[in-house]
Amino acid sequence: MKQSNLTVSNEFAALSPAFYTRLKMQGLTDPTLLHVNPDVLAQLGLTMDDARSPQFLSIMSGNADLPGGITLSAVYSGHQFGVWAGQLGDGRAHLLGAIRGTDVDGKPTDWEIQLKGSGKTPYSRMGDGRAVLRSSIREYLASAAMTGLGIPTTQALCLVGSDDPVYRETVETAAIVARVAPSFVRFGSFEHWYAAKDTTRLRELLDYVISHFFAQEVPRQDSEHTLNDVIERFVDVVIERTATLMADWQSVGFNHGVMNTDNMSVLGLTIDYGPFGFMDGFQINHVCNHTDTQGRYAWNAQPSVGLWNLYRFANCFVALGADPERLKGRLERYEGLFIAAYRQRMVAKLGLDVWKEGDDELIDGWWRVLHEQSADFTLSFRYLSQIDDDEGGLRSLFADTTALEQWLVTYRTRLQDNDSDAQTRARLMDQVNPLYVLRNYLAQEAIEAAEKGDMSVTDALLQVLHDPYTAHPGMEHYAQQPPAWGRELEVSCSS
Ligand code: AMP
Ligand code: MG
Repeated sequence: MKQSNLTVSNEFAALSPAFYTRLKMQGLTDPTLLHVNPDVLAQLGLTMDDARSPQFLSIMSGNADLPGGITLSAVYSGHQFGVWAGQLGDGRAHLLGAIRGTDVDGKPTDWEIQLKGSGKTPYSRMGDGRAVLRSSIREYLASAAMTGLGIPTTQALCLVGSDDPVYRETVETAAIVARVAPSFVRFGSFEHWYAAKDTTRLRELLDYVISHFFAQEVPRQDSEHTLNDVIERFVDVVIERTATLMADWQSVGFNHGVMNTDNMSVLGLTIDYGPFGFMDGFQINHVCNHTDTQGRYAWNAQPSVGLWNLYRFANCFVALGADPERLKGRLERYEGLFIAAYRQRMVAKLGLDVWKEGDDELIDGWWRVLHEQSADFTLSFRYLSQIDDDEGGLRSLFADTTALEQWLVTYRTRLQDNDSDAQTRARLMDQVNPLYVLRNYLAQEAIEAAEKGDMSVTDALLQVLHDPYTAHPGMEHYAQQPPAWGRELEVSCSS
């Protein structure tokens, strides 16, 4: 990796030292670069030659700092499972600095690089600062899957492994994922200073986040805009982004699993992939996190949990003089924003040109039919586009098709109001209904192969997940429903 090619900045480190601890990482022993995501690499302006250099591996395994970077772990707090958890922070993550690259439109952008699993920090509490290969592969693939689906997410540049033992339920081996995002600031980063009654730091964080990441959408405080105007607009944008993110998640059957406020990105990105899951058979109250016995973070609870978390976030700004009633007024917009975003996605998924009165019933009816038969979430939508040619694919997903057939009668009637012809509808539906998602069993296949040193499954999955809306010849396996062993895989917080 040529240092001269790198433009590294440390904007987060320019905040007061109270926001983080500067420290050395505890790198992995004798590390191997297991995989690199070429899209993320290119976004950072790096080449495969860079990625193959010994320096790249040293950095990404936690054995060397980013040249010109300031390595640090950030502090934050948060509400976990509805309860104030106090101080948390990067317990096993290190921010290396930011690399100047480009965004999707080719515009220059600074991308923060954060390693996860790179050793203990002052925020590790009882943890060992490590991440196992299993959970690191899941995060690595999920980040690519979300990007491919067009859903805002932190990204993953590469995956590094080692034989270093990590003790979980059994002995596993250590890995590091290099995560990439404009910022890793969370709702809990703000809650931290609110709880500490430190309005100076709260204000500092607010100014930092707005000036760096919301400059286009939030006005500066000036003669025309009071601090309260600025805060309300900022909260508004975070509400909008969270509402659309929840609609995105719902539209692909994604269940995050641990929607604690410390796992909610202020930028509206999907962040902190732990016991997440893309549903196979649809169950409306599906809970992917085995540890979540109450079902607090069930699939159908996600939109309302998003709002609950936004309340915790917005409330912080009362300490800066924001009017609680006005903030509440902003938060009350959330439901409408979510519903609008959700309807937009759902009508597109059903191949309808526009949302019409009565479509909510049609959509709810569809969910009911899927739920009752635990029909495959992803393939049900995908095969629905084919019913004019062949209903067989769709029917094959249902043990009993009685309710499905009744629903199809209503659906076909509704399609008569549609302007686009059947062919166009099928084409448009395939552009929004993925054929491939990161099913648990596929992640498991990638993990089991990787544990034997074989990265070919990870590699194949990355290819299909990069473009999940297009059928990839020869890759049919990755679109299939889980085999019996892959249906009830338990995913817990252990990572
Ligand atoms: P999570 O719910 O997985 O996002 O993690 C909650 C908190 O626990 C965060 O502050 C993490 O940094 C921390 N944490 C999780 N696993 C470990 C670990 N193995 N070592 C240190 N800290 C950890
Ligand atoms: Mg977390």
